[in-house]
Amino acid sequence: MRLLILGGTSEASLLAAALAQMPQIDATLSLAGRTQAPARAPLPSRTGGFGGAAGLAAYLRGQRFEAVVDATHPFAAQISLNAVAACAEAGVPLVQFSRPAWVAQAGDNWVHVADLAGAVAALGVAPRRVFLTVGRLGLPAFAVAPQHYYLVRSIDPIELAQLPPQHRLLRARGPFALADEIALMQQERIDCLVTKNSGGTATQEKLAAARALGLVVVMVERPASSGAACLNALADVLDWIAHHRAAP
Ligand code: NAP
Repeated sequence: MRLLILGGTSEASLLAAALAQMPQIDATLSLAGRTQAPARAPLPSRTGGFGGAAGLAAYLRGQRFEAVVDATHPFAAQISLNAVAACAEAGVPLVQFSRPAWVAQAGDNWVHVADLAGAVAALGVAPRRVFLTVGRLGLPAFAVAPQHYYLVRSIDPIELAQLPPQHRLLRARGPFALADEIALMQQERIDCLVTKNSGGTATQEKLAAARALGLVVVMVERPASSGAACLNALADVLDWIAHHRAAP
């Protein structure tokens, strides 16, 4: 069975590792090409956009793919919408594999915002000490609020011009431990955490740390769903693949 994985996440890597052990599935991993040094894929892979939904539909037909798993990031809204349109056009079944969103618990003090502009507005005009964990591509939105100090954490390197004037840059990749997150926020005298609601376990301890320290969390909520069916567990995705492999 020819299967395309739209990737760029730990879920996609998990699925690729599982499928690498299943020779009956001929899977290809597709990456956008944003990460500078992506981990070596255990499956054949390709990199770069398809040229919109029409380009993806043509690729699916041309390469004779029989199923697609959209394991892109919950904030990668465009590719997920393209996948829905392309799979409908090419007549190929599609499922999304995504981590569940984080949900506020007792003791949390979250301010929910729809997008990064909303996050900037939620910080207000008075200077604050902000722990900014929205990813490299989200930083330009904060250029309009230079009065705040930003502790910026990023996996990929960031050019100085992209950073707000008052900043400290931390290059790090999760998972992060709760005690370390608390210590970091205390050392930096952080009073507000800004994050996208990515979900998952690798970076969730920052939320527990903010709860423990009584800090405000500005939570950028996810874009609207693409409309594709969504599974959260690897075992369920493997069942879905097996079902479509067996289907006539
Ligand atoms: P996006 O806005 O939804 O996609 C923009 C364009 O990038 C798409 O239209 C498509 O180009 C291309 N693209 C995206 N994912 C692709 C893939 N897996 N394979 C081939 N082309 C892809 O996505 P984004 O927010 O820029 O994210 C880009 C990638 O980074 C995604 O694969 C996502 O899983 C990963 N990522 C994103 C975030 C985030 O917060 N957004 C965080 C972690 C990882 P064409 O229209 O030309 O096909």
